[in-house]
Amino acid sequence: MQRRTLLRCGLAVLPATLSPRPGRAATRPGAAQAARTRLILLGTGGGPRPRVATSASAQVVIANGTPYVIDCGDGVARQLVSAGVPLTTLRHIFVTHQHSDHTADYGNLIWLSWAAGLRTRVDTWGPPPLEEMTRLFFQMNRTDIETRIADEGRVPIVPLVHPHEVKAGGVLLEDENVKVTAAIVSHPPLTPALAYRFDAKDRSIVISGDTARSDSLVALARGADVLVHEALYTPAVDRIVAKVPNASTLKQHLLDSHTTAEDCGRVAAAAGVKTLVLSHLVPPDDPQVTDEMWIDAARRHFKGTIVLGKDLMEVHGQESPV
Ligand SMILES: [Zn+2]
Ligand SMILES: [Zn+2]
Repeated sequence: MQRRTLLRCGLAVLPATLSPRPGRAATRPGAAQAARTRLILLGTGGGPRPRVATSASAQVVIANGTPYVIDCGDGVARQLVSAGVPLTTLRHIFVTHQHSDHTADYGNLIWLSWAAGLRTRVDTWGPPPLEEMTRLFFQMNRTDIETRIADEGRVPIVPLVHPHEVKAGGVLLEDENVKVTAAIVSHPPLTPALAYRFDAKDRSIVISGDTARSDSLVALARGADVLVHEALYTPAVDRIVAKVPNASTLKQHLLDSHTTAEDCGRVAAAAGVKTLVLSHLVPPDDPQVTDEMWIDAARRHFKGTIVLGKDLMEVHGQESPV
């Protein structure tokens, strides 16, 4: 059925990584009903190093046609375009924490959306110093901004953008589409690091951000339809650190600040979610770690649907027959 739908839409040739797979509960963007709240993974690789295989961390929840972008890793604007999300509809951006694989294109996303024709308000949410980052970004790029306002009739960008620094958990906003709740998670040495929950009328979606195994994330994700959880494949850690100088510090960071795929399964089971999505994969591009290895590791403790995240994958979850 899924395949027939895609063929009718003219998407007869799909890259292998986007092909629907039995039991994975995911398809290419565009296959879902428009009215349904959508979740699209924009970038699923962990870490700031630009890669061929995967983009840096970013995802978008689209409720009633309004995009809520979570994290702004390298290439997020282009990934949104690739997913068919008009940049002119950008409305909310949520940053989980101040690591560059989540923030590198924060300013660029707003600036390029504005260059693409955005004329409406954007609210941004995340840990300090989000306000200073926003202000300094526009100051740094004032030559282009002032030129485009003068030459192209663009509206001023600064008044459109409203940053909100988030320092504690709780409900951040409730609009006509979703309620958004934050929780503080554990990602030393950065603090605060945030997870976000989106409760729409038809489904609930939780994004872990970067975190060690976290009880506050379990509480935030309680009963959710979908949990997107960062994942570390433990046996590959030694191969990762062998590639970098200062390896001992990196290894300790990875082990203290992230969650193994096996523990992702434990968290998903403890929270009682329906679908677990493994994303922010570390390693992001190790050919020795197969899809089955990731899934099998998470499967040890979780009986629900498990999805291995791929760039530009739309996640439906088991609550959404396609
Ligand atoms: Zn990260
Ligand atoms: Zn991080």
